Amino acid sequence: MYGKRMVPDYISEKVMRELKEGNCYPCMGCRSFLNLYKDENGRYKFYGRFNQGVVTLNLVDAALSSGGDMEGFWRILDERLQLCRQALMCRHNRLKGTPSDVAPILWQYGALGRLEKGEAIDKLLYGGYSSISLGYAGLCECTQYMTGKSHTDPLATPFALKVMQRLNDACEAWKQETDIGFSVYGTPLESTTYKFAKCLQKRFGIVPGVTDKNYITNSYHVHVSEEIDAFAKLKFEAQFQRLSPGGAISYVEVPDMTHNLDAVLALMQHIYENIMYAELNTKSDFCQICGYDGEITIVTDEGGKLIWECPNCHNRDQDKMNVARRTCGYIGTQFWNQGRTQEIKERVLHL
Ligand SMILES: [Zn+2]
Repeated sequence: MYGKRMVPDYISEKVMRELKEGNCYPCMGCRSFLNLYKDENGRYKFYGRFNQGVVTLNLVDAALSSGGDMEGFWRILDERLQLCRQALMCRHNRLKGTPSDVAPILWQYGALGRLEKGEAIDKLLYGGYSSISLGYAGLCECTQYMTGKSHTDPLATPFALKVMQRLNDACEAWKQETDIGFSVYGTPLESTTYKFAKCLQKRFGIVPGVTDKNYITNSYHVHVSEEIDAFAKLKFEAQFQRLSPGGAISYVEVPDMTHNLDAVLALMQHIYENIMYAELNTKSDFCQICGYDGEITIVTDEGGKLIWECPNCHNRDQDKMNVARRTCGYIGTQFWNQGRTQEIKERVLHL
């Protein structure tokens, strides 16, 4: 049965207890992990809390803007962090003064709080009861540009970790200043991956290994096209999950696992020992024309556009096929923009 699961996501209680002061709790949505918060009785509270919003920092843009000058990069990164802070404060200030009456189920009857009628929600915006997220994207391409190497290269890994630490230090400083629950979050980047990539190409042209794709890499992930085995990938990414406390998810891309359950079990054990939160990316496709239920593939049509095609009967009608892929955390079935489709096409199998 565990070979057929569409959402094989595993939280390692062992690793999570190490990272979250002895606690183990589920994520919100695909990957948000709320910061730790204790209620007035000194007990940890996980349920019924919320997030004020997210703003995502494009690390690749910070790198390219520096022209490769290391000192320039850190200066520009700090400037961008200040911009993100301003943008996050816009979200926060927009919420301030909201009366509980706008959504009684949320604010008065306990979904997110038990406030009085007419009371502003402000007190729930402070003290860590709710979080607010500094998202980031493209650590992979950022490192590639600044060091000339993949962040999996031991010579480049320290730089990548240092960038992540800088984001955490910024959030910590903002939290001290404002009493608002800032935290670092590995943005899901659903369709933004394409948007960011297009903006980068417009500003900086095609830089090999950095802007030559129509997507940029999610959060701290290893590039989808980099050959790395599942076990090494999860172990490598675990060190970045520690630095992405507001949310993170790691994955390995796997083929049909129904005939290799030993490998599934070995991976589950590996996740338990090494990484807080990880998933297996499986595929579930069906061609309504011929009944083929193997993997429907992405091909390039005459106009250079990426399209889905049944390898059995060559059906290309998206209304007559079902394709399910893990896009970033959630499973998408409604097809994707060209950037995301290219990213899915270039994914290598890790097992
Ligand atoms: Zn078919």
